[in-house]
Amino acid sequence: MAFSTVFLLAAAAATAPHDNMNATLWYQTSAEFRANSLQTYKMASLTIKEALTDRNWTALPTQTSDFQQLPPAIIVDIDETILDNSPAAAQAILEQDTGFNSKRWDNWVAAAKAKAVPGAVDFLNLAGKNGVTVLYISNRECAPRANSKDVCPQKADTLKNLQATGITQVDASQLWLKSEQQDWTSEKESRRLKAAQQYRVIMLVGDDFGDFLPQVKSKITPAKRFELVDRYQQYWGSRWFMLTNPTYGSWETILQQPKQQYLQGF
Ligand SMILES: [Mg+2]
Repeated sequence: MAFSTVFLLAAAAATAPHDNMNATLWYQTSAEFRANSLQTYKMASLTIKEALTDRNWTALPTQTSDFQQLPPAIIVDIDETILDNSPAAAQAILEQDTGFNSKRWDNWVAAAKAKAVPGAVDFLNLAGKNGVTVLYISNRECAPRANSKDVCPQKADTLKNLQATGITQVDASQLWLKSEQQDWTSEKESRRLKAAQQYRVIMLVGDDFGDFLPQVKSKITPAKRFELVDRYQQYWGSRWFMLTNPTYGSWETILQQPKQQYLQGF
């Protein structure tokens, strides 16, 4: 046996499969993921007309009065809702890197080459054509880089990336990134409340429960989150649209160690 073969076998034996491999493969290779995203965006697209016609239609439970005459808007998340960052996850697996690497992530953001999640661009362009403002409420964070005076180079990069996917009506004013303003934390509710002052928000689109409701991303149990999903039953599939993301999210970070305790056998 050649030395290199022995070496590779030894390396394979010594290395456990990366936690995120199946999830990332599902995201990158499965017809199932692609069909699921397309069906979600098709459903959202079919709903736009009704949402525009019905002036009492709002996707924000907090939007209860004096919103009927406001111009319509849709709030979308960016990562794994509009942009597919799975190459960053795949790269981490290839490099046997577990955990989040902020340098790799920033390099990926700077490259501005994420492809769109299937169905997203057609949906956004349909919204634009119908006079709906799209607000991108994202937890991409402003962080100056050594070689730049820009306080938020990530914003220009993200805008460039969104435009490169074929989204026709998007400018910097529509991108509301984390920490751009003092109270814009990873809890997105303050940004949704700001949107509600200016717009009738007809839809929310995201891949994390925190893209829809406040206080669901920490100090909460899976059972409590299920209860909240059910409480807002009438929103799903008409006002709220959830993309699938098995690779990361608050669904996972709320779990306590050891995570096996949540597995339910028969
Ligand atoms: Mg996201």
